Amino acid sequence: MNILNIAIDIDDTITDTYESMMPLVAINYDLDLKKLWANKPSYKELSKTLPNFDEFIQNNYHILANIVSVKEDAIKVLKKLRSEGHRIIIITARNTEEYSNPYKLTYDFLVSKGIPFDKLITNVGNKGLQCATEGIDVFMDDNTKNCKSAMKYNINTYQFKSNFCSQEDKIKRVNNWDEFYNIISNMSKEANN
Ligand SMILES: [Mg+2]
Repeated sequence: MNILNIAIDIDDTITDTYESMMPLVAINYDLDLKKLWANKPSYKELSKTLPNFDEFIQNNYHILANIVSVKEDAIKVLKKLRSEGHRIIIITARNTEEYSNPYKLTYDFLVSKGIPFDKLITNVGNKGLQCATEGIDVFMDDNTKNCKSAMKYNINTYQFKSNFCSQEDKIKRVNNWDEFYNIISNMSKEANN
């Protein structure tokens, strides 16, 4: 079996950040949560339509980061991959503009939830470049821009299905964590042959 360096995004890939944020948005802006769910506006759309949305998010990042739930099977799959010898590198754009100490907040969250990882890198603007620097074999992120960035550096990239990100044909899509496990499993077997 071949050992792979696997880079994973946190928000909306490991965690249900969007889903956890929606009730906060509904309360703060006095909106109907059911309608919000029906429309599933993207972060960009929310930012365009709601007054001071970016500021609101900024003020609530630290709350959000602690209440977000972890996606089904994410912990199980990450543990399995790590026990098989693969390296898990968490790469997040969370930065000091959003959080006073993004590394510590994220590190503590990952540990408290029992999410296994070998390395955590925060404040990453260019995920493709970061993946190339870290010698990443496989990258998974929900964000279209980040996926394209990694593909530019020829990183084997998968986009985690989200409620609000557009799907593009040229980006390989993953619908759930079990699917990701199977992809890695096959990849590490293939690399061996
Ligand atoms: Mg994300």
